[in-house]
Amino acid sequence: MRDVVSDFDSGNTLIGILGHPFKCPPAPFEGALLLHDHFVERGVRDSVEIRTVGPIAAPVPITKEVSQSILDALTERGIEYVPNQHLVGLDPQNNVARLASGGSIPYALFVGIPVHRVPRVVESSGLAVDGWVPVEKTNLATRFPDVYAVGDVTGLPMAKAGVFAEAAARVVPDDIAARLRGDVLQQPYEGAGTCYIEFGAGMVGMVEANFFGGPTPTARLVGPSRELAADKAAFASIRRERWFGS
Ligand SMILES: Cc1cc2nc3c(=O)[nH]c(=O)nc-3n(C[C@H](O)[C@H](O)[C@H](O)COP(=O)(O)OP(=O)(O)OC[C@H]3O[C@@H](n4cnc5c(N)ncnc54)[C@H](O)[C@@H]3O)c2cc1C
Repeated sequence: MRDVVSDFDSGNTLIGILGHPFKCPPAPFEGALLLHDHFVERGVRDSVEIRTVGPIAAPVPITKEVSQSILDALTERGIEYVPNQHLVGLDPQNNVARLASGGSIPYALFVGIPVHRVPRVVESSGLAVDGWVPVEKTNLATRFPDVYAVGDVTGLPMAKAGVFAEAAARVVPDDIAARLRGDVLQQPYEGAGTCYIEFGAGMVGMVEANFFGGPTPTARLVGPSRELAADKAAFASIRRERWFGS
């Protein structure tokens, strides 16, 4: 994003969430917070308005508290969140984003969070129903014998994020091993994970979410703090080492 905005220093910056669910729920909001820092560093913040617009009622719909903390951080920096709005098009002649409600929002720079969908190969495989792969939430088994699905392709009612894909990928081998032993899965999938969220100025918060472990989904915000920024860096380097050996 830094490269895209490097030549931009005035007018309205509009971050538009184009559908729900979308990948990495905190991203449009941390993007706004980081853009704020970027424009402050360039000395142009006073000539730039930053706004995020999207179809969801709140940044983290499953919790008012976490949503409010994010909204407070946005408000403190003069960033507006426009909830419950569906963007239906861009009018580049007049530099406005059109809303399904009939209104429009001006922009000089538009950053779009794309509509999320399963890859075409998944769609054409017949695994998906209404756009998503239905799975058992306890063990990620699909409707087809011996076929599992993990990650963003599933139709589970939860956030689409890598941490959840990673957690789900740990459950599947356990389920296969349990089945081979004629046993049952001991630790069902809970849809639990921790998403880091950048607040700017080197501060990072952590949203700890659990979608299926209790009667209703829960989430809480820890931080933001500089210690969590160090945790996030360690989290990333552990995965780089594990997946890419570097
Ligand atoms: C900007 C951004 C920031 C994010 N930040 C975070 C974060 O901080 N923390 C977090 O937990 N999550 C984050 N996410 C979300 C995270 O990246 C996804 O939730 C996660 O990658 C989902 O993993 P997946 O394996 O299900 O799907 P993907 O990672 O999308 O993997 C699917 C793979 O299938 C491949 N593919 C598609 N079609 C074919 C085909 N025909 N043949 C072969 N291969 C094919 C694709 O190329 C892709 O590599 C972020 C996402 C974005 C976009």
